[in-house]
Amino acid sequence: MMMDLIVHSAAQLLILTHRPQRGSTLGQLNIIEDGALAVSGENIIEVGPTPEILGKHKSEILIDASDRVVLPGLVDPHTHLVWIGDRSAEFDLRIAGGSYVEIMAAGGGIVSTVRKTRAASVEEMVNEAIPKAHRMLIHGTTTAEAKTGYGLETPTELRMLEAILRLDDAGPLDLVPTFLGAHAIPEEYSADAQAYTDLVVQEMIPDVKDWWEKNYSHHPLPFVDVFCENGAFDLAQSKQILQRAVELGFPTKIHADEFNGLGGTGMAVELGAISADHLVQTPAEDIIALGKSETVAVSLPATPFGLAESDYTPAKRILEAGGYLALATDLNPGTAWCESMQFVIALACRYLKITPAQAIAASTINAAAAIKRDSTLGSLTPGKQADLIILDVPNYKHLGYRFGTNLVSTVVKRGKVVH
Ligand SMILES: [Zn+2]
Repeated sequence: MMMDLIVHSAAQLLILTHRPQRGSTLGQLNIIEDGALAVSGENIIEVGPTPEILGKHKSEILIDASDRVVLPGLVDPHTHLVWIGDRSAEFDLRIAGGSYVEIMAAGGGIVSTVRKTRAASVEEMVNEAIPKAHRMLIHGTTTAEAKTGYGLETPTELRMLEAILRLDDAGPLDLVPTFLGAHAIPEEYSADAQAYTDLVVQEMIPDVKDWWEKNYSHHPLPFVDVFCENGAFDLAQSKQILQRAVELGFPTKIHADEFNGLGGTGMAVELGAISADHLVQTPAEDIIALGKSETVAVSLPATPFGLAESDYTPAKRILEAGGYLALATDLNPGTAWCESMQFVIALACRYLKITPAQAIAASTINAAAAIKRDSTLGSLTPGKQADLIILDVPNYKHLGYRFGTNLVSTVVKRGKVVH
């Protein structure tokens, strides 16, 4: 048959599995040596040994992947891609031993990003995000989640959503939006977190729903997320926010257990959240609850690394409990300006003590499940979208083993070579 693209002669072609991989099954790569893959339009038609695929199919576009590894495009299921400015001065202070109070006094912290983002137009938000999205793509990420959360008031939050949707339309990186109006308590509510929680519940989430139905009703609803942590939203407030989102039909996520285990993960599991993210100080009973649930545990190892902290996600315990584990960058200006899932994989191997095969599955099929895209993304199984990357390495174990340089030589998105 005539195809639009054939990739052939790969030293290793990693198919992975059509469905996400839970618990001890994590790490099934399903490797074809001297592998090939045939694409028609945006979709994968067939995978198999090179002689078989080249014997059956023809294409004007052939990519010879000799001595290289082909795998699904990486999925980054937790990013704060859209923001204005940077916090390099804050990093400099913090790393020199400056306290939280000194950092705030010097104009740092999330409030500084909020101030700049509130002052920005949609165009300015898009323009600052484009180079970040490009770096994500050339490092092998073909789909990413992106959150609002630097507005903390309805108009800026809606401009951030609009910016995310425009970036998604512009491509080639696909973006999956999340409303994170409950990212932090804004300055003007610093004395009354409950009043801001009430605003999120009574006005912001319903306003997002109305805006969405008016402007983007052809897209599925965005995720709603909340930062459950001391100094942000407590367990009861986080539950109010997620419950309201569920009532209005939104899929949900939570930031939980980054610094303190407040019970957010167990609560999110009960509410049927699609993912629970960070999970560093997760209580034992919440790990057990995760293991029995469909909620994906998203670990963000670039964040403790970025903060020079020593505690990471107890990934092995989550896997022993039977949970779904995924990885993400947490790309954000305060704690983890990291656009590379390759670097996250290298960190996960060392600090979560998972193997390269497990980290690859956690960054593809399981990461796709964390954003409800596993039916179309995350594996090279026939019928899925032809999002794939080619690494200039002789075997997949180099991903994780090596770090600090970009191993990606080619990125294919929806069947087209985009890098
Ligand atoms: Zn985050």
